[in-house]
Amino acid sequence: MSANVLEAIDLTRHYPIAQGFGKGKKVVKALNGVSFTLSAGKTLAVVGESGCGKSTLARQLTLIELPTAGSLLINNESVTDLSKSELKNLRTQVQMVFQNPYASLNPRQTIEYQLSEPLTIHTNLSRTEKKERAIDMMRQVGLRPEHALRYPHMFSGGQRQRVALARAMMLNPKIVIADEPTSALDVSIQAQVLNLFMDLQEQYHTAYVFISHNLSVVRHVAHDVMVMYLGKVVEYGSKETIFEHALHPYTKALLSAAPTLHGKTTQIKLAGELPSPLNLPTGCALHQRCPYATEQCAREEPALRSFAGRQIACHRVEEIA
Ligand code: SF4
Repeated sequence: MSANVLEAIDLTRHYPIAQGFGKGKKVVKALNGVSFTLSAGKTLAVVGESGCGKSTLARQLTLIELPTAGSLLINNESVTDLSKSELKNLRTQVQMVFQNPYASLNPRQTIEYQLSEPLTIHTNLSRTEKKERAIDMMRQVGLRPEHALRYPHMFSGGQRQRVALARAMMLNPKIVIADEPTSALDVSIQAQVLNLFMDLQEQYHTAYVFISHNLSVVRHVAHDVMVMYLGKVVEYGSKETIFEHALHPYTKALLSAAPTLHGKTTQIKLAGELPSPLNLPTGCALHQRCPYATEQCAREEPALRSFAGRQIACHRVEEIA
């Protein structure tokens, strides 16, 4: 069994916001006690509608922000116990690939320069060695080395995302966080980029956290799937468990909204809109929208517990199953 490279325990991130003069502060509860593990060479997909806390989670995992409570362990080191310089070193182990490759690349610098830059900052390699590594990585992501001195605008969207992935891989990170990495690409190109992610994972044994609302993408790349709603995990298990036998009403609703090969799903529709993270509902956060909700759901928050091979937070899972 591979060792965990990433472990989150009750990870929490709240943002206090000012309400105006004399009105005190309110708190946006964006991430509320998320726990999971990820081992080398595996992919965890994080799914949920926008506002579910996926992007806040990405900011914690890439160490852009530190959690307000809970623990985050990267390579068994707790990020909240580290000094600034240790944190800086650890950041090289976690890289990010964004949704829009054009925005994440510098339009005024060549591809060779941008691929070499992480090596310039974090290693003592010579110019020639950096160039060799950049060219080698270009080959690995399916780009032609003779295009090394081109600028981002001279590439297609799919090629730019290859460059962004190459840049993320330059320091051989243990973890890559990919935030909707193919959603800005044409459907015909998406599969090629996803396959590239998977090829590099096989070669380097990198762990991926794939943040996506696209369930076909998740089905293609994930080993495990974690479904989030209003900053909490509602269902978490292997891809097969979640896709073949989802039990949480929220997961079922997400799956039934997505097109399938056979056109058959158990249709579940949620009522109303996503509540504000400024004012979370009492009890189960889904109770105002869930077709199975009872009085108990409005009153008591369901704990995340093991049931039928997954973790799930629902009072009525036995009846639903
Ligand atoms: Fe629905 Fe109640 Fe389960 Fe929440 S706890 S998902 S409201 S049945």
